Formats: sequence, structure tokens, C-alpha cells
Amino acid sequence: MVARATEEIDLSAFNRGNYMGAVESKNQSENVSRVLYPDDSTPSGRELRLHQEYFFCSASVQDLLRRYLRNHKTFEQLSEKVSIHLNDTHPVLAVPELMRLLLDEHGLSWDEAWAHTQKVFSYTNHTLMHEALETWPVEMLGRILPRHLQIIYDINAKFLATVTQKVGNDVELMRRLSLVDEAGERRVRMAYVAVLASHSINGVSGLHSELMKQSIFSDFAKIFPERFNNKTNGVTPRRWLAQANPPLAALLDQRLGKGWRRDLSQLEAIKPMAAQPAFVRAFRHAKRENKLRLANWVEQHLKIDLDTDAMFDVQVKRIHEYKRQLLNVLHVVVRYHRILDAQATGAPVDIVPRVVVFAGKAASAYVMAKLVIRLINDVASTINADARVGKLLKVVFLPNYSVSLAEIIMPAADLSEQISTAGTEASGTGNMKFALNGALTIGTLDGANVEMRENVGPENIFIFGNTTPEVADIRARGYQPRDIYEATPNSSACSTQSATARSRRASRRATRASTTRW
Ligand SMILES: *Cc1c(COP(=O)(O)O)cnc(C)c1O
Repeated sequence: MVARATEEIDLSAFNRGNYMGAVESKNQSENVSRVLYPDDSTPSGRELRLHQEYFFCSASVQDLLRRYLRNHKTFEQLSEKVSIHLNDTHPVLAVPELMRLLLDEHGLSWDEAWAHTQKVFSYTNHTLMHEALETWPVEMLGRILPRHLQIIYDINAKFLATVTQKVGNDVELMRRLSLVDEAGERRVRMAYVAVLASHSINGVSGLHSELMKQSIFSDFAKIFPERFNNKTNGVTPRRWLAQANPPLAALLDQRLGKGWRRDLSQLEAIKPMAAQPAFVRAFRHAKRENKLRLANWVEQHLKIDLDTDAMFDVQVKRIHEYKRQLLNVLHVVVRYHRILDAQATGAPVDIVPRVVVFAGKAASAYVMAKLVIRLINDVASTINADARVGKLLKVVFLPNYSVSLAEIIMPAADLSEQISTAGTEASGTGNMKFALNGALTIGTLDGANVEMRENVGPENIFIFGNTTPEVADIRARGYQPRDIYEATPNSSACSTQSATARSRRASRRATRASTTRW
């Protein structure tokens, strides 16, 4: 779906010689859908995003009603015939938009319109992190979408009135439940609009769904417990095994038949084969072919020669502080110094050769994430150019991460890095793609890693780090990362090396940048 201007050109402006002005209006309207997720670090960027979200919601809901009304005279059967699923809060404007159309265009009463709306909508929450939860300033919403703001106010007033009826006038509770955050600049909490309008609300892993009820929606979960449920994320075995990993798929077809594509539980049947040397050999052969395919890609695009006998240790996902690519790259620096220190003693170095693979995009205005990419590249060029390290350690950052690239990377991994701070990764799906391709997981007790451990058994997954309650406890006591950094011998030793001096400067810049941004 794209925004198309109603007028191609302002002919009178053109004929007056104003060639820029002649297409300005067309350009402005078509900017609405020119880029998805426009940079929202500036007021005009945020306004463009609000326009875009409304454009997509309104077009979808109007189209949906148009199709419904081709075969129906009343709205009686609306919720039997259509469902609207809010996949995160980005499309939540569809709620006041459906209300507006039912009330203003089709003449329904408030109660009729709201009853239909609640039956039509459902909502999946994807994050608990405060900075990621959408809120729109009342000022902006009222200027751009005044009727929608009025409808949101009416939803709010009616909801708070029913709560007051039940529990009496509890001002503090009202403040917490309100669709409008009144602290500081007044803002509409879009996730709350989604919760009020939906008959079903789910999180995306067992842990996340529990935390959702205990944290951001705790008051709503007490009022509407029946609405909240869990749907743990999954990945399709057709793409992430059958299509992405032809050698392993062929081995599975040969041993199990082709049924696993539609019924993944059939993979259970390879469990006893882990004790058959012939199967293990065939499995390792498939892994090697996949590692060769990735090594060829890296050779072609980055001109770096990878040793396919080394362990492929992989972290590929959007770059974000909570996902902790920084923790991983600091670990790489520590390994680098361990190798050099061990060589200095003159004894043979007993270490498994490793290729550390990173890939992932940073959001356009996310300064800290971009600095992490730079740091990974700087560490990679230092280590890869150091002949003393040789085949023991290589680091690669694959640019322009995408699903197509992921299909080459996942099957080649030996080790899957899923190391987010516990309580922050709602589910993760990369974790599942790796596991399906026979990689072992090193990770924290976060998101779907928790359920993966329950299914593979704790002996088949490497879990480390603080649990969600431990993280909460550390935060409550006041977390000072610099104290830990200075008390850890390896980390401060590394930082004195000239090789990482640039990274240190980058890190100081990152600290400054991050304090201004957050
Ligand atoms: C699977 C996938 C993701 C999600 O990865 P996580 O590790 O769950 O964050 C992101 N981007 C691409 C291209 C993917 O294929």
C-alpha cells in the first residue's frame, strides 16, 4: 500500500516558473509512505510517523468495512466476519478509526459501536521496555487527529466511570489506569487503548506473558484477567530448515521421511540416532557444507578467509543495548588477550579456534547502537590483522542483515548467542532458528530461552547470568557498571592497549550520546 497524491502537479505554479512548488504538495503527500519506520528523533519525524500510522490504519479499516458491506446490510455479523489483530501498538489508531467510522459515517450508537469494536480487536504485546511503548503527545494527536483524540477521551471517561462504580473513587488507581499519562507533557498510552479495545491480549513467551501481567498491565490484569494469555512465538520449519538448510533437510528426509515439514514433533525420532556414529557423521557433514557456504559468502563480500574447522560463534539480530552485543564483543577482546598472554608464556595454547560472527542493523537515530557496530568492526580489523592470533580467532561483521542473509548464517552456526539481560527479550525467534539448525545455545534465562531449556534439558543448553528477579534486585540497589569494569582485571587490562584506544574514545562518545538521547 502506498500514498498517491490526488494531483500530480500544480499546473498554474509550474506555468509561473515555480517548478519546485508545482510538485511540493505531491511530494509531501507521498512522503507518508516513502519509508517505513521513519527516524523519530525529531518532532517532524515523529509527526510523519503518526501520519503514516493513521494512513495505513484508516485505509485498512475503510477497505475492511467496504468489503463487509458488499454482503451485509447491518453490522450485526461484523465480529463473526472480520477480526483485526493489533500486532504491537503501531496499528492501534485502527481502534478510534473503527469507532469513528461506525459512529460518524454509519450512525451507530456508542454502545453498539464499542461492543463491535471489542469483539473485533485482539492485541499482541511485543515488549515491556518503557522507551519502546508508544505514546502520542495529546497536543500532536489533537492537532492532527482531533476526532480520534475525542473518541479516546470518551473511551477513557466511560472506562474510568465503570471502575469508579466498582471500587469507589481511588485517585491513584485512576491516574495509573488512565489512557492519558498526565505526568509532564500529557500523552496518550496506545498500549492501554489496545488493552481496553481487545477481547484477547497475549505475550510472546511464558516468561514475557507473566511479566506483562505483573508490570505494564498489572492493574488491567486484575480488572480483566480473562483477556490475558500466552502465545509463545515460533518459526516456520519450511523456511528455516527445509529451504535454508538443504543438506540437513535431505538427511532428515532420508531418515524420517518428509512429514516433519508440517509436524515438527516428528524430529523427536532422531533422538536415538545421536548414538549412531553414521548419523552423527552425516550430521557433521551437513554442518560443514553450511559453514563452507557461509565462508564463501564472507570471502566474496568481505575478502576474509574463514577456517571451517573453527567453531562458528554467532550473534545476529538487530543491534540494541538490551541484546548486549557489547558484552559479546568485550568477551572477544578478553579472548584475544588470553591468546596473546598464553603465547607469551611459551606454552602451547590450548584453545578451540573460533570465528565470531556478528550481523544486525541499528535504527537510524540510535547513536549507541551505531557505535557498537563501529566497535565490532574496529575490534575485528585489529584481531584479523594480528598474525600472532592466526586461525585461533577471527571476527566478522556481516553488513546489511536480512532474512535472506539469515538463511545463509543460521545453518552454519555451531554456537547461538542469546545473551539479552533477563526480563528484556520478549521471546526471540533467532534463538529457535539456530536450534532448528543444530546449533547449541549460550544464553540467559530470558524470553523463549526459558522454554527451550525446558524442552532440550538443562544439560543441552548453556545458561548463565542473572535471572529476572536478580536483575530487578541489582537495579533497585543502584547499578554502577564502571565499578564492575574497574574491579575486573581483564577488562581494564584490555582497555590500556592501544588497539582498543579508539574504541574507548568511541565508548566515551557513546556514553555522552546516550545520556543526551535517553
Ligand atoms: C529472526 C530474525 C530476527 C529476530 O532475531 P532475534 O534474535 O529473535 O532478535 C531479526 N532479523 C532477521 C532478519 C531475522 O531473520
